[in-house]
Amino acid sequence: MSFSLTMGVYMKIAIDGPAGSGKSTIAKLLSKKLKFEYIDTGALYRAITYIINKEKIDIDNKKKITDIINSSVFKFNENKLYLNGFCIEKEIRKNIISQNVSEIAAQPFIRILLNKIIKSTSDNSENIIIDGRDIGTVVLPDADLKIYLDASSSVRALRRYLELIEKKEPVDLNKLEEEIIIRDYLDINRKADPLKKADDAIIIVTDDLNIRQVVDKIYNLLNNDL
Ligand code: C5P
Repeated sequence: MSFSLTMGVYMKIAIDGPAGSGKSTIAKLLSKKLKFEYIDTGALYRAITYIINKEKIDIDNKKKITDIINSSVFKFNENKLYLNGFCIEKEIRKNIISQNVSEIAAQPFIRILLNKIIKSTSDNSENIIIDGRDIGTVVLPDADLKIYLDASSSVRALRRYLELIEKKEPVDLNKLEEEIIIRDYLDINRKADPLKKADDAIIIVTDDLNIRQVVDKIYNLLNNDL
């Protein structure tokens, strides 16, 4: 495979991987460095989970969920997600949403609705980075560069733990690792668009790398240096 950051050549980058592998942090920094647009698709699945929880909607009530998704405006501004003009970033990052999101994301009808929104944003962008679970396999099968970020569950749990502690949300590290393992299991084993490395994705294991090193690694890949 060969890539290069050439002026006037548009590029789509897919970043997939399990919870806590660093996708969003890396994608945000990379998009800033490259001046690319960025979609955090996990935030959209979290937003739907937030709405369903808040409105206490039964997951079997497909009509109501479909109507709500179709009549809602999801917008990213400075990498924060806004729902109908209200920033919901704080709500969607809560651990209660992390605990429930995989069940919601396993629903094929929700994936079809969200993929429509994601695809239309992507089709209207020149340069874009999209991160998630099925970006290299389903959303952007023709991406110019596909990255699969991975790390051990203990390292991923520790990262999430530090994030939540910083937000003053009390959590137990062992419980967090258990939840991450369950979420991986659900995301990998669901029928619709499971978490899967695309055949042509480049794997980066981030256990022993800091954020800057991962960003540089991908940036160098784009410049053909690796
Ligand atoms: O990336 P993040 O951890 O915020 O994603 C939350 C959840 O959303 C994942 O655990 C997964 O269940 C779901 N998701 C998905 N497909 C994507 C992105 C996220 O199923 N493309």
